[in-house]
Amino acid sequence: MPPRLGLVIPCYNEEEVLPETQRQLRVLLDELIADACIAPDSRVYFVDDGSRDRTWRQIEAFSADDPNFGGIKLSRNCGHQRALLAGLLSAEGDVIVSMDADLQDDPRAIKGMLAAHAEGSDIVYGVRSSRTTDTAFKRLTAQGFYRLMTVMGVDVVFDHADYRLMTRRAIENLREFDEVNLFLRGIIPLIGFKSARVEYARSERFAGESKYPLRKMLAFAIDGITSFSVVPLRFISGIGLATCLVSLMMAGWIVIRALASGATVPGWASTVVPMYFLGGVQLLSIGILGEYVAKSYLETKRRPRFFIDKLL
Ligand code: UDP
Ligand code: MG
Repeated sequence: MPPRLGLVIPCYNEEEVLPETQRQLRVLLDELIADACIAPDSRVYFVDDGSRDRTWRQIEAFSADDPNFGGIKLSRNCGHQRALLAGLLSAEGDVIVSMDADLQDDPRAIKGMLAAHAEGSDIVYGVRSSRTTDTAFKRLTAQGFYRLMTVMGVDVVFDHADYRLMTRRAIENLREFDEVNLFLRGIIPLIGFKSARVEYARSERFAGESKYPLRKMLAFAIDGITSFSVVPLRFISGIGLATCLVSLMMAGWIVIRALASGATVPGWASTVVPMYFLGGVQLLSIGILGEYVAKSYLETKRRPRFFIDKLL
């Protein structure tokens, strides 16, 4: 018996791409069902993350015309990660695949993921084999981010976004993580189980513009680092300790010089520059500390991460 597939797609103001996405997925479903890779009652779940355009009306129409298409409407815009989680936790199926609505993740890679699952993997990561279609800026920032995460000791899969397959068992384990600051790419490797990677070429966004402006990308990166790594906190202590040692050595040197020659040059720069520098280091350190305090504050409240308005 082939597994029943649940395909989860978060959508935020995606009216320009959604009809094409639906069309391509219909073709893909037909192909996978015909090849007995998935069960005929497999379903696509479009998660409307509080879109302000016609996205939800389109999803309703797909679902009315075709039993293989369903929808989940969130009560408001909760952000990509939460929309994704809402879909993963609500979708039915033996295997759940998540992907973006804009066709940047090649839907044909799902076949490879299903094959890896058939060989016994519980989690299959879609990995970008090339980033030639990304802008140089996006490529640089994204890869810098993966490197930084590795330096910080967070176990992330390089060049893997949120295009992945998970079995029912892995999804039920994901349910156990109830953190509010969601960074799914960091959580999923923590689940463990046998995993595999499937490569795909990332294409350009089919239509519309990115829903991840620089502001959201930065917030996402900070969230990812601070919810998974205490390295920045240790780094602060390191800087503090090093600064103390250096200033002690400087003090010693000044005393020795004063005793030896008796002449000290009153330098303005040598006083003011370190003052500004240390002021900066302190502010930055307090900022990093604050980031973690804010995180624990938000976590202790245990607020629900999303509300589902409608299910189709
Ligand atoms: N998205 C979402 N909520 C948001 C922002 C984005 O559900 O608040 C969805 C969006 O519709 C898309 C996916 O997340 O399906 C990835 O967004 P996008 O393609 O704009 O990001 P990029 O590929 O540019 O990083
Ligand atoms: Mg995209």
